[in-house]
Amino acid sequence: MLAAAGSGQRLGAGGPKAFVEVAGRPMIEWALEALRAARSVDRIVVATPPGEDALAAELGVEGVTGGEHRSESVLAALELVDGEVAVVHDAARPLLTAELVDQVVDRLLTDESLAAAIAAAPVTDTVKRAGADRLVSETLDRSELWSVQTPQAFRVAALLPALEAGDLERATDDAMLVEERGGAVAIVPSSPENMKITTKLDLRLAELLLSDRA
Ligand code: C5P
Repeated sequence: MLAAAGSGQRLGAGGPKAFVEVAGRPMIEWALEALRAARSVDRIVVATPPGEDALAAELGVEGVTGGEHRSESVLAALELVDGEVAVVHDAARPLLTAELVDQVVDRLLTDESLAAAIAAAPVTDTVKRAGADRLVSETLDRSELWSVQTPQAFRVAALLPALEAGDLERATDDAMLVEERGGAVAIVPSSPENMKITTKLDLRLAELLLSDRA
C-alpha cells in the first residue's frame, strides 16, 4: 500500500506532496510503477488526502481516504487488504525499485520468526543525543545505526493489531509499533538513493536522479 495522504506543508508545494510533479510526472507515479513491476505485489491500495478521493481513480488504482497521521492512513489502507503480507511504502520516496520491494518481501517470507522486514541505509553521519539545552549527552555507535526507509513488509497478523492498539500520532514508521509489541523486525540494507522528499533540496536531487530513468 502507498501512503500518499500527507499535506506536503514542509515542501511548500501548495498541494499534497505525493502529487507534486517530479521529472515529468506526479511523484506518486514513480513509486506506483515500481510496485506494479514487483513480482511480490498483486494488489495496490493508495491512501489519499481527505477531499482528494478522485486522485486514486485518476491513477487507476484502488484508493482509501487517509487519516490525520501517517500510520492512520496506513491503517485505513490495511483494513481493505485480505492477504497475509502487506508492503507499506511512502509515496514521498519516488526512487523505489521493484527489486527492493521484492527483497523486503523475500526476507520476511524466508524467516517464519519475523514480523517485518524493512529497507534501511547505514548511517554515514556521526549521531549525537542532545536535550533542549543543546548540550550533548551521548555519541551513538554509528556502526549499529540504520536510517530507516520504506518499503516495509509486514505479516498482516502482526501489523494490524499493532496499528489498532498503537499510538499512531507518535509513530514515525509502522515497524516501531510492531517492535514495541515484541515483533522481530529485520533490516534489508538498501541504498540512500531511496530518499524521502521533504524539502525543496530533496526535490531537486530527486529530479536529477529520476531524469536518468525517465
Ligand atoms: O510527512 P512525511 O514526509 O513523513 O510523510 C511520509 C509519507 O506518509 C508521505 O508519502 C505522506 O503522503 C504519507 N502520509 C499519509 N498520511 C498522513 C501523513 C503522511 O499518508 N496523514
